[in-house]
Amino acid sequence: MDSKPHNKLHIYFLPMMAHGHMIPMVDMARLFSGHGVKVTLILTPLNAILVSKTIERDRELGLEITIRLINFPSAEVGLPEGIENHSSVTSPEMTQKMHKATELLQQPFENLLEEDSPDCLVADMLFPWASDGFQDSEVFILPDLPNKIKMMRLQLPVYIRDGNENNITKLIEKVMESERTSYGVVINSFHELEPAYSELYRKVIGKKVWHVGPVSLCNTDNEDKVCRGSKISMSGHECLTWLDSKKPNLVLYVCFGSLSYFSNIQLLEIAMGLENSGQEFIWVVRKEEKTEEEEDREEWLPEGFEQRLEGKGFIIRGWTPQVLILEHEAVGGFLTHCGWNSMLEGVTAGVPLIAWPLFAEQFYNEKLVTDILRIGIGVGAQEWCRWLDESKIYVNREDIEKAVVQLMLGEEAEEIRSRARALGEMAKKAIQKGGSSYNYLDALL
Ligand code: UDP
Repeated sequence: MDSKPHNKLHIYFLPMMAHGHMIPMVDMARLFSGHGVKVTLILTPLNAILVSKTIERDRELGLEITIRLINFPSAEVGLPEGIENHSSVTSPEMTQKMHKATELLQQPFENLLEEDSPDCLVADMLFPWASDGFQDSEVFILPDLPNKIKMMRLQLPVYIRDGNENNITKLIEKVMESERTSYGVVINSFHELEPAYSELYRKVIGKKVWHVGPVSLCNTDNEDKVCRGSKISMSGHECLTWLDSKKPNLVLYVCFGSLSYFSNIQLLEIAMGLENSGQEFIWVVRKEEKTEEEEDREEWLPEGFEQRLEGKGFIIRGWTPQVLILEHEAVGGFLTHCGWNSMLEGVTAGVPLIAWPLFAEQFYNEKLVTDILRIGIGVGAQEWCRWLDESKIYVNREDIEKAVVQLMLGEEAEEIRSRARALGEMAKKAIQKGGSSYNYLDALL
């Protein structure tokens, strides 16, 4: 897997906790290691004791073989402490509990996979779940594209990942069919944004293609920009005055489009990440505006957050005039879910981006931003998800803080910013008379 800095093949071995399974798999792992492969054996603590001396000797001989531990959940399934191997089992009930316990190893095992990203996994046949996590975190290169784009399976839409036919796959099939039977395709993009891809697309679908965007630039009047989409919330209006009091490029705008939904614990991570970054920000949260009767304290906000950050952080509950905010000279960064429109509006305003893709085609858009255009950085989102799990943190406060600091202050920030600015200029030129989008529209008409 070429996502890693070293080239040595790294193989995980996951043996079943029974001598007849473990002994040969440990031998097999050592055999591989003797062939110059980096090997990691995944064992529970008591089973590790059985082989640790042998592995230590191998290491002394210069082999790259290590043991990583996962705890055996004896207590959770009602097994006495000290029982982690089928050889210690003395009744059919205990055998049942052993099987239950091994099923519970899936999550901790997947956590290890995520941390280490080995190239290959050899798992005992009695762990049929082991390859699920492995395939999900496997990095692959998208084939036949002008750039070498790497993705993980987990970042693909569920309806593509699971390979099953369902209502969405049927709809997408129909969409593609209608593309095949149409005369051509009108696209909200501009040629200079993605020249190689626009050529490829034209070739692949064999139709006429007109890039006529960025369409948001048709709003020249501030009144139109305010009215775009929905009724602006009270705080949406106030934030523009707030921005007027700020210095150029120092405010981060945080908004995840019109459909995204975050759980309270994920919102809390965002709040802490923003606060710890020390940067000024506007954060749009899709919550109702607080009424007077409502308690001041909201579960998703850390205690005293708004008071502490008064003047430094501005929370908008509801709809914002996004295009106007992005155009404001005080805004110097945009933490976005990479919805195509938001991404393009950020590009048009010449603002560098932090990509936090969530669902739809947003993970592809992230690659455009971070790998191809290099006008932003990723926050580290790993998993495509339309409705985030209420009890799961997808991106933690440390990663959010790190990305914000890197974009607003980091060493590369100035280069990223100047590329973003240059692209913003190209976007504006594209729709002016004689520009590529202007000409495309003329040609189409
Ligand atoms: N938008 C806005 N104010 C908001 C939230 C969103 O004006 O508070 C606009 C944004 O400018 C963009 C659109 O809503 O034009 C969202 O589209 P996008 O493709 O970015 O994301 P989606 O909502 O489809 O996930």
